[in-house]
Amino acid sequence: MSTRDTKCPEREGASSSATRTGAGAVRTAAQAGLAGKLLSLQRTHGNRYARQVAEKLGGAGEKAKGDGKLDSKIETREAEVVGGIVGGIIGGAVGFAVGGPVGAVVGGGAGIILGAVVGHLLARKTLTINITKVEGSTRSTTVDDASKVLEDAANVKISVGKVKTLTKAESEAAIGTDLVLDEFSTPGSPTAEEVALTAINRTPDTITAYFVKAMSAGSHGEAFRPSAFPTVPPSVAIKNGDSPFVAGKPLAHELCHILLDKGTHPSDTKNLMSYSNDGVGLTPDEVKKVRSSSFVK
Ligand SMILES: [Zn+2]
Repeated sequence: MSTRDTKCPEREGASSSATRTGAGAVRTAAQAGLAGKLLSLQRTHGNRYARQVAEKLGGAGEKAKGDGKLDSKIETREAEVVGGIVGGIIGGAVGFAVGGPVGAVVGGGAGIILGAVVGHLLARKTLTINITKVEGSTRSTTVDDASKVLEDAANVKISVGKVKTLTKAESEAAIGTDLVLDEFSTPGSPTAEEVALTAINRTPDTITAYFVKAMSAGSHGEAFRPSAFPTVPPSVAIKNGDSPFVAGKPLAHELCHILLDKGTHPSDTKNLMSYSNDGVGLTPDEVKKVRSSSFVK
């Protein structure tokens, strides 16, 4: 189904004070030997997982009830909690050996955060997609924003496989000299331009994303699911710009049409599959389905 989405606010905010406290504690625990590793993991991976575990352990997670975004994390959060507990025990023991009772407390805290990060990484899966950039697209061929949306929703990272940038001549040969992709009006019946475009830059059993300047019916993006488009290889097309949506939502949304094998849009405005600007959550069932998709490894 094509997506005619039209609104978009700001991204989610920065790290919480609880996480900052954790990081501060770690700095004083340099002798526990965990600080360097933890800080580098936090730097590369962000602090929100530690915050989530802290919420879970402290019961503060109840506040998140009704928020599809946080509810959707239940599955992978279990790995974080287990990692946190194991890390806490090890960190505590190491801290005690190095710094006595105070070291145990500091080391235990560091271990909980480090364990949570490790647990999260172990539960992470990857969706590899090819990217084809068509003449007129201003989009980067990196997909960090969409990957962040999908990581937050289902702990699935998007990795970029084969990248192909079409020349003007190649682009015009596929979608015409206007460089506007002619959109299908009936699911299962792709236009000639869509057929020509989606034949380019393929790898078996891999979704290819096509970045175009614009789309004929004004859609933000469209998805070609194998069950709805048996004659088209699994593909999504996205036009320039994510505004007014949260950055990355259009691509993550279209990809999830394929991963969920579903063309409908829920009314829950917190859901990634809704038409809302800022809905980026998935239900627990959707998280399971996304993570068990044949495209996700
Ligand atoms: Zn849609």
